[in-house]
Amino acid sequence: MSSALVHNLIRPELLALHAYHVPESSGMIKLDAMENPYHLPQFLRDEIASVLSGSEINRYPDPDPFALKEKIRKAEAVPEGCDVLLGNGSDELIQMLAMALNKPGSVLLSVEPSFVMYRMIATFVGMRYVGVQLMPDFSLDIEAMLAAIERDRPALVFLAYPNNPTGNLFSAEDVRRIIDASPGLVVIDEAYYAFASDSFMKHLVDYPNLLVMRTFSKLGMAGLRLGFLAGRSEWIEELEKLRLPYNVGVLPQRAAGLLLDHHGILLQQADQIKKDRAILHRELQALAEVYPSEANFLLFRMENATAVFDRLKARGMLIKNLSNAHAMLKDCLRVTVGTPLECQKFIEALQESVA
Ligand code: PMP
Repeated sequence: MSSALVHNLIRPELLALHAYHVPESSGMIKLDAMENPYHLPQFLRDEIASVLSGSEINRYPDPDPFALKEKIRKAEAVPEGCDVLLGNGSDELIQMLAMALNKPGSVLLSVEPSFVMYRMIATFVGMRYVGVQLMPDFSLDIEAMLAAIERDRPALVFLAYPNNPTGNLFSAEDVRRIIDASPGLVVIDEAYYAFASDSFMKHLVDYPNLLVMRTFSKLGMAGLRLGFLAGRSEWIEELEKLRLPYNVGVLPQRAAGLLLDHHGILLQQADQIKKDRAILHRELQALAEVYPSEANFLLFRMENATAVFDRLKARGMLIKNLSNAHAMLKDCLRVTVGTPLECQKFIEALQESVA
């Protein structure tokens, strides 16, 4: 009875969706979600504890934390004339952008395979989603992209730079052609910027239809849920209107502010992860076809990937099985670069799982 009521009332496109699946991971070596594997130094943990204990959690957070935004602008080299918009993770920013640009019939364009939330959020807000397939080596199919832009006139284009789950950085020249050709807004999602060799942040002033989105999740703050959108003030001012007033809580605000004062520590950890990515890539190559990565994870392809994934899981090693996520990802698995010890254990478990 109540289930019929739910099915009658909820929008059919939502009924057809599967909720974003987060697997049980307690007790496992967790290399599935691109988290930074390192703890903070004790002195910083102590400072966070004291800052948090002095926070007034009986009060609403600062609705527009100017000081935190200034720290972000400085640490992330946001150009002059540009502003930042804070999100409860960058997922929330994707949602705000889709809500803001979704006029009747508007299209959200991205590539396939890429970050699944672009498509899911388009569905949440009732926006038409168009996904253009990448080339077999996961580079942009620039002719197909330009044709889709011409045909569908997307109000909003998302490009993850580097891309998830493939890990590669698209050609900057191709991305520039897409921005030039787009009648709508192009958002470069730089979730993995800390591990990449290029960024569009410095180009924000060159294009009136460009925004750059980043998250602190991969840099060691996944638990805080903080992302930001950088762009010309005209854009940020309008988007601010749909930000829910207290979307970033007082504890994340304070902790992130402190961590940004010690940004260098997180960047050092990211450097370590980049070095370990090269070692893991080399070792993994002996066992699988490994794709180039400018992120903190590696995508690799091997026979019977699902069986291998299950065996890894049985050995307490959690990675991501993408085999059924997209036709181009058949037999693909994704592993986050962990600590050197975690990477070594992963390689050992993988050797045992393919034997
Ligand atoms: N963009 C990309 C490309 C991602 O891979 C992710 C997380 N996996 C996000 C955005 C969302 O990150 P968060 O909501 O943690 O900021």
